[in-house]
Amino acid sequence: MILASRNDHKVRELGEILTGVELRGLPDEIESPPETGATFEANALIKARSARAATGETVIADDSGLEVDELDGRPGVYSARYAGEGATDAENLDKALADLAGASGQADGSDSARYVCVIALIDDSGEHLFRGTCEGRLIQEPRGEGGFGYDPAFVPEATGPGDQRTMAELTPAEKHAISHRGAAAQLLAEHLSA
Ligand code: IMP
Repeated sequence: MILASRNDHKVRELGEILTGVELRGLPDEIESPPETGATFEANALIKARSARAATGETVIADDSGLEVDELDGRPGVYSARYAGEGATDAENLDKALADLAGASGQADGSDSARYVCVIALIDDSGEHLFRGTCEGRLIQEPRGEGGFGYDPAFVPEATGPGDQRTMAELTPAEKHAISHRGAAAQLLAEHLSA
């Protein structure tokens, strides 16, 4: 199965979750299409359709990001380039935290957010979509070295109220067990084994 992504973190995480599936990255000579969709579903399909057209093989593609309630769902589909094209993870995170601190509702403690991941699968039977979410909240002082992206500032709900570790402070196995990517991949794995 071909995974239409050049994000090494995501390829590694999905590979760790989808045990028993031989995942190959997109061959270098195939260009990645612009992600012009307004939703995670639209962008996952854009990437999967392009990889399917280029290879004719079974392909999966994912699109993911962070939705902050106080920011009306931003950064959303712009998560990877929130602070501008080519921005680093740290720059994107800084901008999200600055925007949140500047938003009016922050004084009310409204810091709820969620990660969303949609995986599109295209095989000979057609197109299939799998959506996973991970609820949590953002903290202003990032902590932890694991994960990537917004993880150092994201405290997931699923670890329980007594556990205030950020996603970047969890082990990879702990993250996969509760993550949006883990949830979407689990739905994909169930579909593949049905
Ligand atoms: P995509 O490559 O277009 O799907 O963009 C994904 C972006 O969303 C990443 O670059 C991160 O900024 C953010 N993101 C997605 N999943 C995660 C995660 O598990 N942890 C932290 N940030 C994530």
